[in-house]
Amino acid sequence: MIRVLVAGAAGRMGREVVRAVSAAHGMEVVAAVDPGAVGVSVDTGTAATLLCRAGLTEAIDECHPDVMVDFTHPTVVEANLRVALARGVDCVVGTTGLSEHKLLELSALASGDTALFFAPNFAIGAVLMMDFAARAAKFMPHVEIIELHHDQKADAPSGTALRTAQLVAAARSSAPQTPGRDTELAGLEGARGAVVDGVHVHSIRLPGLVAHQEVLFGGQGQTLSIRHDTIDRTSFMPGVVLAVREVKSRRGLLIGLDKLMGE
Ligand code: NAP
Repeated sequence: MIRVLVAGAAGRMGREVVRAVSAAHGMEVVAAVDPGAVGVSVDTGTAATLLCRAGLTEAIDECHPDVMVDFTHPTVVEANLRVALARGVDCVVGTTGLSEHKLLELSALASGDTALFFAPNFAIGAVLMMDFAARAAKFMPHVEIIELHHDQKADAPSGTALRTAQLVAAARSSAPQTPGRDTELAGLEGARGAVVDGVHVHSIRLPGLVAHQEVLFGGQGQTLSIRHDTIDRTSFMPGVVLAVREVKSRRGLLIGLDKLMGE
């Protein structure tokens, strides 16, 4: 059995992770950490009762997890990783907001054959969307990204949008000239979005949305839209369960679910 600790267990994603890991073959949730929900019972979908606790260090020392799954907050994930990696606990991270540079720095803390896995998006459709976008960018270099999320999201742009922009930028031979920040009207700066590796990214935040992204390409007399919509947070769970299963046999830093999916 793979012993799993869930950090952020009382949150929107954490609750789904507890249920998905509890239902998956060969793994179990041994600890739920969420300091704002101490003593709150999280639904495992089984008869087992699991109460949230406050301290990550104590939870690791007492429950001896093999893997920590972190869906917390951009401001706390780094501290959680420092604790878990130093104790030889493999980490599966969905929390967005950490740069690749920071992830690399943190992975250096990993002792022995410990692995740090981060996926900006655990939904298979989103992984395919990024792959298709990178392929299209080779032939249609004019591209902008529109990402749409619920109004409680803590970071903008989304981790998926950042990753897509990096992939698209790497795939196209050169960045085409398009109207830039200098065309924004005085006092209305931001109209052209954030520029990530030369790709304009626009973030929409509205209640009712879950997680959505459109990669919009323009060419001579034509446009191409590649869109992914997350309708329900359960869409992320097969990817999380796969990562928990795979991370044990990996070491160092791995970024992106595609690294675990094969061809
Ligand atoms: P959420 O509902 O706010 O859940 C986060 C939970 O973490 C909250 O219960 C929060 O408690 C708790 N928390 C805060 N500090 C903590 C700590 N030190 N240790 C343990 N738990 C702590 O947010 P969410 O919608 O689940 O999203 C969580 C993260 O996952 C975000 O960064 C989001 O962008 C990301 N995400 C990633 C993917 C992906 O596929 N990679 C998909 C969806 C979301 P309080 O409310 O008391 O602060």
